[in-house]
Amino acid sequence: DRLKESKVYMRALFDYVPLEDKATPCQEAGLPFKRGDILQVVTQDDPTWWQAKRVGDSNLRAGLIPSKHFQERLFFCPISGLTVAGLRRSFRLSRKDRQGSSGECSDPGDSEFLTYEEVTRYQQRPNERPRLVVLIGSLGARINELKQRVIAENPHRYAVAVPHTTRPKKPHEKEGVEYHFVTKQQFDTDVLNNKFIEHGEYKENQYGTSIEAIRSVQAKNKMCIVDVQPEALKRLRTAEFKPYVIFVKPRIPESRRRRTKINPSSDFLQQDEDLQEMRQSAIQIDQQYGHLVDRVLIKEDSASACAELRGILERLERESFWVPLSWVR
Ligand code: 5GP
Repeated sequence: DRLKESKVYMRALFDYVPLEDKATPCQEAGLPFKRGDILQVVTQDDPTWWQAKRVGDSNLRAGLIPSKHFQERLFFCPISGLTVAGLRRSFRLSRKDRQGSSGECSDPGDSEFLTYEEVTRYQQRPNERPRLVVLIGSLGARINELKQRVIAENPHRYAVAVPHTTRPKKPHEKEGVEYHFVTKQQFDTDVLNNKFIEHGEYKENQYGTSIEAIRSVQAKNKMCIVDVQPEALKRLRTAEFKPYVIFVKPRIPESRRRRTKINPSSDFLQQDEDLQEMRQSAIQIDQQYGHLVDRVLIKEDSASACAELRGILERLERESFWVPLSWVR
């Protein structure tokens, strides 16, 4: 039986440093990993400590990792000698950070602690609908521009989901091409009926992208690319869409102030503040949504980011990727 390879794979949703884990029976035997790593779980015999290997690691030896159950809510109290339901303290904090201030969570999976997600390899077959590609971006990433550019290069393969708007149609526009033009009343009804993955106001008009708009792109066997606020991810993470999530971050240069040591002008100070804001935005999205991201794309400039995105899209169609097991069962 020793030869039988374990088929249980988990995506780690947190960073684990065995040397900082006071609960481990043996720190040297621990397997360090980072959020996003894929772990092959070799045995789950012990309820508290699993043995696992990191996929892609040349190291063949398995190490100890906290079991899902243990990581979620159980710890051993040495004083009472009992296993107590509670939360492992070191991981509780990071979880709270992650929820941030806007942290209203409708997804039941999200009320649990982020531990592991069971995953499997998935390759889209030719007769299957293409996976949804979701771009999220931090401040300055200009994901809409990136999306438009990559679609313009290959309009027979990629398409946007046509949004709805309440603004009047312009003479050159066609219903269903640039937008679906709807009345304010219709739009409000659609919002109430949860038809949109996201919506917002711009110059007193409403705009939004519907679930149906994505489906109709996929029905034409094209790969649908959406750029959304990261809050929309929860709605989109379903077996139907099998979204591949790309987080676009602008490459943020070092602060000017540090580079020009003497008398930074106020211009430089302003630029510094802008850069600081961009950094902060990237950190915040990473903390709150990083566990839902398949790929981070560091954007140097528009052309290279577009080329990189094109490469990713091409691989998506012909290679296999890790997806939650629940999407393919
Ligand atoms: P326009 O009315 O000039 O076509 O679009 C104006 C703005 O509406 C765009 O720059 C964009 O900010 C916003 N917009 C367009 N489509 C959508 C959408 O699907 N959702 C949201 N939230 N805003 C959109």
